[in-house]
Amino acid sequence: MGVTKIGVLTSGGDSPGMNAAIRAVVRSAMFYKLEVVGVYKGYKGLVNADFVPMNSKSVSKIINLGGTILQTSRCMEFMTPEGRKQAYENMKKEGIDALVVIGGDGSFRGAKALFEEFGVPVVGIPATIDNDIFGTDFTIGFDTAINTAIDAIDKIRDTAMSHNNIFFVEVMGRHSGAIALSTGMATGAEVTLIPEVEQDIDSLCNYLKIERRKNKTSGIIVVAEGSPLGSAEEVAAKVKERIPEYDTRISILGHIQRGGSPSCNDRVLASLLGYDAVCALLDGKKGVMIGQVNNKTAYVPLSDACSKHNPIDKSIYEITKILSV
Ligand code: ADP
Repeated sequence: MGVTKIGVLTSGGDSPGMNAAIRAVVRSAMFYKLEVVGVYKGYKGLVNADFVPMNSKSVSKIINLGGTILQTSRCMEFMTPEGRKQAYENMKKEGIDALVVIGGDGSFRGAKALFEEFGVPVVGIPATIDNDIFGTDFTIGFDTAINTAIDAIDKIRDTAMSHNNIFFVEVMGRHSGAIALSTGMATGAEVTLIPEVEQDIDSLCNYLKIERRKNKTSGIIVVAEGSPLGSAEEVAAKVKERIPEYDTRISILGHIQRGGSPSCNDRVLASLLGYDAVCALLDGKKGVMIGQVNNKTAYVPLSDACSKHNPIDKSIYEITKILSV
């Protein structure tokens, strides 16, 4: 028997555009005469049978909203076989015969378990601001996050220039330098520090000293959370120790990067992936993530999507260095 009732949930870290994806899943399902059930708070809602029937109207006027109307969570119970069994039983009771999971690689690990252990047709939609998911050029939320970050850094540069400060601006990215790389290039940062490239504090300081000789006494250094030289605060302290005459300042952009109204690119991506996810389930595809590669729909096994990573383009890092001299 084919799919008749789809469950949809958002899980793990939230990202702007999740609502646009929910809307697309619900409206596409309506178009193809399927029933849709929203699951609250990610896998927690599956374990606790926290469901809500959804229709076209339940998703009106949400395309422009950040966060997720279904809410999200991190659910420890779902990490256990008993928790997943409970989730599966609840799905069966509710008549949900397929599931769309909107989230990051952790959420896809959960989706893969549900698919492998119970044969539930599951399709994943990549939504995370980090843009580090294998099998898609972009994840939902990345474009909004980098635009929020460049808006903030542009403002920080105004004050840095007025006071002759060196600002160490920390952006999100514990394991991925994607946000730092794009924002560093787009704001003309003097230096960008990312987890993927080893850095040496002495070369960084030598570079800053040369810049200082050229009368460049203010500047922006973008630091990804996972920079090998440490957090923005730690890098600033190391620089201050070696070049005491520098007036250093620190700004940690933090959670503002996750919030806000999604950008046009994120709304469009979320809409296309949401539609494609429903079509994939109707086509009998299961255990896959829907991505986009070179503007075309890509189907990636969940096992790849949750175990491999999308590497950054190191040539962008090299070009950023050339352009900041
Ligand atoms: P993200 O999707 O943003 O990477 P997390 O890594 O926090 O977020 O994962 C979200 C949720 O997915 C977890 O709270 C858990 O419920 C579920 N999950 C993650 N890894 C597994 C796993 N190996 N098995 C089952 N469920 C998992």
